[in-house]
Amino acid sequence: MISSTDTVIVGAGPYGLSTSTYLTEAGVPHQILGHPMHAWKYFTPPGMLLRSEAFASNLYAPWAGYTVEDFCRHNRMEYKPVGLHLPVETFVDYGQWFQSELVGHVRPVELSSLCRKDGYFRLGLSDGSTLVARRVVLSLGLKSFGQAPSALRTVPKPYVLHSGDFGDLMWSKGKEIIIVGGGQSAIGLAALMSEVGARVRLLVRGDAVNWSREPRTSSGLVSRLLRARVGLGRGWDSNRPWLLAMSYLLSEYPATFHKLSLAQRQRILETSWGPSGAWWLRNRVEGKLEISTQTEVRSAEVRNGRIVIEVDSANRTFALSADHVVLATGFKVDMARHPFMSSEILSSLSLIDGSPSLTSNFETSVRDLYVLGPAAAMSFGPALRFIYGARYAVPHVSRHIAARFKQEAGRFETPPQAITPELANGRAGGSLHARSVLQAAEHNAE
Ligand SMILES: Cc1cc2nc3c(=O)[nH]c(=O)nc-3n(C[C@H](O)[C@H](O)[C@H](O)COP(=O)(O)OP(=O)(O)OC[C@H]3O[C@@H](n4cnc5c(N)ncnc54)[C@H](O)[C@@H]3O)c2cc1C
Repeated sequence: MISSTDTVIVGAGPYGLSTSTYLTEAGVPHQILGHPMHAWKYFTPPGMLLRSEAFASNLYAPWAGYTVEDFCRHNRMEYKPVGLHLPVETFVDYGQWFQSELVGHVRPVELSSLCRKDGYFRLGLSDGSTLVARRVVLSLGLKSFGQAPSALRTVPKPYVLHSGDFGDLMWSKGKEIIIVGGGQSAIGLAALMSEVGARVRLLVRGDAVNWSREPRTSSGLVSRLLRARVGLGRGWDSNRPWLLAMSYLLSEYPATFHKLSLAQRQRILETSWGPSGAWWLRNRVEGKLEISTQTEVRSAEVRNGRIVIEVDSANRTFALSADHVVLATGFKVDMARHPFMSSEILSSLSLIDGSPSLTSNFETSVRDLYVLGPAAAMSFGPALRFIYGARYAVPHVSRHIAARFKQEAGRFETPPQAITPELANGRAGGSLHARSVLQAAEHNAE
């Protein structure tokens, strides 16, 4: 079956769902593909607390009433913009509520192939159907970008696992686990696994765990004013006014980052917001599990059903064995790792060390192909690695797409399939509000 639409959003996480609401409001016929909030629901351990503050963890819509605060009020849950430490389960419920209220037309399919023919994109979907579209927005999160130290790359699962490979952690009870990494993901996992009864050892590459400082409430007026607003700064070392001022610029105005030279952008991405553990995790790991610093895994092999690794430390080399090694060694954007990408699109993409080079409208060097979320960080800065970056990115890209859609009206040979109330009523149902805005969108599109 072949169908067509103007714009396809691939990925139904915070960026994709938010973009759909803005395109609906702007009257742009579109489809959104993916399983809503999938990465948060299935690949993030239950019990994990969001590192971003509640006020910086919203999905965005052009209508009032759909923030984390609104969700908490609806459900009579406590809400504070700062200091709430939202559990991932609550965040998933919030995202699913947002989706069922506003984006009832999500198609729960995966994108399997993407190519371009005669000025249109052809998307092969996991249900065997094909979608033809004028524009594509990729909002795919981090799924394809997990990194592994070279010594561990060839060791098969389940001896070596990636932190994004599992949700529930009960399987780790009673097991010996080595976690490699020194950031929030590694430290958070170490805390949660040791709390369910795993024997955990954490291998950190740096000289020490870099703990963010607990923000002081008594610091100066400027710091207090900035801290109240900064979407990235809080939880990082934000008691330093200069860092706070920089976080303010980068999180509130990602367009500023876009104007910097490539060398400046690369320096900021490499040196700021590096791996660190949130201050509120500290007492859950220190003294509760073994932490080795200045470590580098040199080699690994499977012996008698266990994984044995050789570790270089500051002044010695030692061997460790465990049931599993879990890698929480971060992510590196590399568009070539998206398995659906045709070689023709890939060769036309202008890339900077694997990341797409984006225009000020989030468009890649392939016309009408857009990228949002962590893969846009090289162009728009560290804010895009967080949910908070959607606050700038989503309205911006949607305005641009809506303007192009209007400019091109009448030149689109295959009539776009408007979002119908039936689609709005699809799998997820769709609230009355969703149906009425989608009907309005359909009307606008005619
Ligand atoms: C362990 C962990 C904890 C984090 N905690 C925070 C936090 O507290 N606060 C914060 O701001 N950020 C956090 N992040 C960063 C977070 O990943 C980004 O903020 C998030 O990715 C932004 O949303 P998104 O919509 O871009 O991606 P996602 O929420 O990952 O959504 C992308 C979706 O696209 C889907 N998808 C991928 N490929 C395809 C395909 N081929 N076809 C269809 N669908 C596809 C995925 O399944 C996924 O559901 C965390 C990351 C990790 C790994």
